[in-house]
Amino acid sequence: NSESEQNKNITLDDIFIGVKTTRYNQKSRLPVILKTWFQLAKNQTWFFTDIDNPLHQYQTNGHMVDTKCSPLHERQHLCCKTAVEYDHFINSGKKWFCHFDDDNYVNVPRLVEELRKYDPMRPWYLGRTSVFNPMLYPENETESGEVFWFATFGAGMCMSRSLALQILPVTGGGRFISICNKLRYPDDVTMGYIVGRYGKVGLTVVPQFHSHYEELRFLPADSLREQLSLSYELQNRKGRNVLDVPGFNTVYDPTRFMSLHCFLFPNEKFCPR
Ligand code: UDP
Ligand code: MN
Repeated sequence: NSESEQNKNITLDDIFIGVKTTRYNQKSRLPVILKTWFQLAKNQTWFFTDIDNPLHQYQTNGHMVDTKCSPLHERQHLCCKTAVEYDHFINSGKKWFCHFDDDNYVNVPRLVEELRKYDPMRPWYLGRTSVFNPMLYPENETESGEVFWFATFGAGMCMSRSLALQILPVTGGGRFISICNKLRYPDDVTMGYIVGRYGKVGLTVVPQFHSHYEELRFLPADSLREQLSLSYELQNRKGRNVLDVPGFNTVYDPTRFMSLHCFLFPNEKFCPR
């Protein structure tokens, strides 16, 4: 009908983009984001961190939220940040909640275009899986347990406002942390459980979300324009896992995000012409 057609006609301003980060990544991960895709979504993107840094407050026009969560890479602290992020989305009044990690590149115009396919007045949970089988909670309860898929936060995830409101009674006001602690799952798995159990909707797999769990160099350069999110890992067991995209040298641009940004948007200031 015409009302739902109107809902699909969203703009970037209808999207809340939350990025989870930490004081430990201030110098390593944040700068390349601030130079690249953040510039295309300055007013819509918020960072959730564990420190108050005046430089970054200035660079983001006050869009760094000090969650007061502990900076440790442990389940309960990551869940604490996600809880704050969710509450900020609810208070923003926006139609879409998208989460990314601080090693993601967000293809901003593509994200807007993708979300136009879905009606935010209906529950939608969009993302990419990172496991081959659905989760089961409690683990051994094959008969009565909750079976669910979760969207890996490392690849990015979006949920409609309708879905976010459905899970508000169990997720809002920091209640997300309680569930996270009870389940002993990471934050993204916990979100999948909550959505499956209380949101009454399944995960819609959108393969254009990408994390560094994939071999990123195998993504063809001519497909990058189609992707919603990308990632990198500078050091893992096998060395580095980065995109194979033409552009700057790897000393200047180890993450490949500067090159990717110029590949997608050649008119940006720092891009060669
Ligand atoms: N992170 C955090 N606190 C930490 C470590 C990581 O908030 O102490 C965040 C980090 O900023 C990122 C996400 O958690 O957004 C995932 O971290 P990372 O990419 O280092 O680990 P992965 O889960 O990809 O192995
Ligand atoms: Mn990561």
